[in-house]
Amino acid sequence: MPALPEYRTRVLLENHGVPLVPAVFHDVIPDVLPEPVVFLKAQIPGATSRAGRGLVRRASTPNEISNGLKELLAEENCQGVLAAEAVDIKKEYYAACLLYFGDEENLPGGVLLFSPEGGTGIEERTGSLLKIHFSLLNPPSALAIASELPDIPRVNELADFLRRMINTFIGYKLTVLETNPIAVLSDGSHVAVDCRAEFEKHGVSRKNAHLFKVSANALDDSTPLEIMVDAINTADPAGTGFFRASRQKAPEGTVAVATNLCGGGGKMLWEMTTGGRDDIFSLNESDTSGGLSGFKSYRILRVIMSQPEAQVLILTGSGMAFQNQFHLASAVWKALRESATPLPCLLRFGGTDQEKAMELMNTVAENLPVKVKTFSPEIFPNAMVEHLSEIATDQRIKQEFTPEAGELAFEVETPPARFVYHPEKNPDGNEPLCIKECPTGFLQWSNGRITPNPEAKCIGCLVCETVSLIQGNGELTIELDLPGEVL
Ligand code: SF4
Repeated sequence: MPALPEYRTRVLLENHGVPLVPAVFHDVIPDVLPEPVVFLKAQIPGATSRAGRGLVRRASTPNEISNGLKELLAEENCQGVLAAEAVDIKKEYYAACLLYFGDEENLPGGVLLFSPEGGTGIEERTGSLLKIHFSLLNPPSALAIASELPDIPRVNELADFLRRMINTFIGYKLTVLETNPIAVLSDGSHVAVDCRAEFEKHGVSRKNAHLFKVSANALDDSTPLEIMVDAINTADPAGTGFFRASRQKAPEGTVAVATNLCGGGGKMLWEMTTGGRDDIFSLNESDTSGGLSGFKSYRILRVIMSQPEAQVLILTGSGMAFQNQFHLASAVWKALRESATPLPCLLRFGGTDQEKAMELMNTVAENLPVKVKTFSPEIFPNAMVEHLSEIATDQRIKQEFTPEAGELAFEVETPPARFVYHPEKNPDGNEPLCIKECPTGFLQWSNGRITPNPEAKCIGCLVCETVSLIQGNGELTIELDLPGEVL
């Protein structure tokens, strides 16, 4: 997990009203040095035990401050130095929020760890920490936290501090948030003296991205296929198109499965299916849902199928998809036709037009170079995977695809596509069947040409191309560019 250094974690805590020891961040030596006494702390993402490594220094003279800044700024991966005011600490506590994956007594959620002894050496005392499990959707009030804490002075104030930490943890979807120590000052107030956070890159919202952009190393671990999916989403933002490749290799003896999971239901069913099995390896996480276009489904599928290790593709949702399943099947068929290395597929369609989707795939299956099996929503993924070994391939099939030349009829910007008319496939010059099949009335037949209706919108469903290829003569095709090289 990428880690946020202290100076950035402070911003998150500050935004949720957590009191912090006064400090100033310097990424160069300032013209006016901070007033002594200060603690100079090198800001290096992921660096722990900084004091022991000489990355935290007490500086009590301008000379010490100047030299300390110079030396710490020169440390490898150092983003800057935090100069924190030396405060009068009477007592130290420790607190952390972590993601919790559940046990016999507690559902998955968060856990607040607290110790009335903070400071260094907390690692050795982890067994004695107080644990307060909490729901991420309904976290405990400060009052409820106070009732769990030991008998310590100003317990309600401390509980309010901890509740604000929980708010920060949930609000920014962190995986770890640690404050060590929380200092009790001579006036009895609490301040965070040191803090750090870890996060999952895909949990960072766009509006908060600037808070998490810590360094190229920390954030830019995206694979080329993930970067491609980001670009697909930028060009066609409607609906969810999520893809994350596993950072591990498929273990020997497992079937390496590329997944196109649709919505939370699809993900849950797939995890229930594979959770107890060590013979199936998911190469990626994915989610295509929320009413995405067929164009976007096609593009994401091309990315998913491009994983070189993949032996088979599995596509499933909850069984009640919002996306029209015929549109999805059209995208799958197009991806299988146009991929240079198509994958055998197990496809489970469930939702509007699921029968049409299965009928389409069953109709085209015999002309595909890979095996394709379709399933209705009554068949769950745990039964689908019984067919994995019979269709999985050790050697990827290779095919050539070159878009057929034709006349560019028009282009659509969102969702992006080029519509190509093939007049030689329509020698009589009559209106092709696909025009009437467009569900939005976007396609028109005008003076022997396919034109867009300015009063209507293209929803990127692919129905026109599918109908043209299945029921017509291939008069209309759609070219969907990808933002990079895929297999
Ligand atoms: S032109 Fe019509 S049928 Fe074709 S993709 Fe757009 S909305 Fe669908």
